[in-house]
Amino acid sequence: MRLSRYFLPVLKENPAEAQIVSHRYMLRAGMIKQQAAGIYSWLPLGYRVLKRIEQIVHEEQARAGHIPLLMPTLQPADLWRESGRYDDYGQEMLRIKDRHDRDMLFGPTNEEMITDIFRAHVGSYKDLPMTLYHIQWKFRDEVRPRFGVMRGREFLMKDGYNFDLDKDAALHAYNRHMVSYLRTYERMGLTAIPMRAASGPIGGDNTHEFLVLASTGESEVFYDAAVTELKLGAREVDFDNRAEVASICEEFTTLYARTDETHDATLFDQIPEDRRKVGRGIEVGQIFYFGTKYSEAMGATVVTPEGTKVPVEMGSHGIGVSRLLGAIIEASHDDKGIIWPEGVTPFPVGIVNLKQGDASTDLACESLCKALAAKGLEALYDDREERAGAKFATMDLIGLPWRITVGPRGLANGVVELTSRRTGISEEMSAEAAVERVAQIYAAHR
Ligand code: ATP
Ligand code: MG
Repeated sequence: MRLSRYFLPVLKENPAEAQIVSHRYMLRAGMIKQQAAGIYSWLPLGYRVLKRIEQIVHEEQARAGHIPLLMPTLQPADLWRESGRYDDYGQEMLRIKDRHDRDMLFGPTNEEMITDIFRAHVGSYKDLPMTLYHIQWKFRDEVRPRFGVMRGREFLMKDGYNFDLDKDAALHAYNRHMVSYLRTYERMGLTAIPMRAASGPIGGDNTHEFLVLASTGESEVFYDAAVTELKLGAREVDFDNRAEVASICEEFTTLYARTDETHDATLFDQIPEDRRKVGRGIEVGQIFYFGTKYSEAMGATVVTPEGTKVPVEMGSHGIGVSRLLGAIIEASHDDKGIIWPEGVTPFPVGIVNLKQGDASTDLACESLCKALAAKGLEALYDDREERAGAKFATMDLIGLPWRITVGPRGLANGVVELTSRRTGISEEMSAEAAVERVAQIYAAHR
């Protein structure tokens, strides 16, 4: 992509309305534009990252055996009257009337609708286990939308729902979600710690939130420092193996890690003092087991192998897809701008032409773009008539992890410069070697 033909409305000044760094950089890097309190347009650069995050979520859900579908944003109120939540949900729910005076709402979550789909089409234990999910816009009329996409009113969420015959199977689904979420966040370059949570309006007693440590997080967290060292890494997980999945969950939930809602000072004090940490965290996901709460209220039953009808066991599991952009930036930036982890970067590599209009430099940049494209890597090529300093500042702000700098002096010696955004370290090498290096780095993130 040539920057001269792209739409990247970067801002020179710090926007006054942004209180935290991720919001500031998302506005400055031309990723989002606010349209109303807590409602944003996703400009091309932001949209690319959003799509990358969605892609990783889809891939990891597929790996866990979960099935994508798509439910609408607007829902009939009657479904929510069945579960009793139409009145309970309160002012966070955006209520709408259609032209026939029917009560509708913009979905804040989808337990009712998925239960409706299930009861219409599934009736036998033979169809279980089943987990359905979608990635869809939600609306919650938050009292205080703030921090950009971190606490929006309209936001993108992955929400998944498991249906199982009995409690053991449903708890396996819960564990499967925990492990798939751990994988998902790791691929995004994040350490997200599962913490025991309080349940809230979804209901249920088995629930964990996933928190990314950040000083700007809205939740107060208490944890054993050793928990931040845990990694899934390259482990292959058999998601059908209950014992294996359960033991990974145990590994990640045994050390103390809780939000203020579930904090237990007595247990906390038993952690060795040098590992006892109090901090703040951003909630990037939550999983719930709630049993038959919705299936009983809405008549979603299955026939057991013995021929009796029982309400289906359920849980729901959410990832804050749009919030993740903010969380990733909070966790990965410096004073010049964003530092995207390779897994989610909008472009894998940027190319800076130091002498735009110089025929051989232009040509070298163009063939670099082609060579990268041949490896499946789309470069963002800064081909503007701008000073080198301005080009570097833009690249640093938008945070592409790798930059290739091309100038006449280097080319005379047969080299370009490859720079890591994270370390700032530059290395000279041939254009072919730079392409090879970048391709190798990204091969590890596929
Ligand atoms: P919070 O406590 O932050 O209000 P929640 O517990 O109400 O969130 P869930 O129902 O668990 O949210 O939704 C799943 C995920 O959706 C959350 O973990 C969070 O990452 C994301 N999310 C929730 N509310 C918002 C919001 N207003 N803006 C952006 N993302 C959100
Ligand atoms: Mg939550």
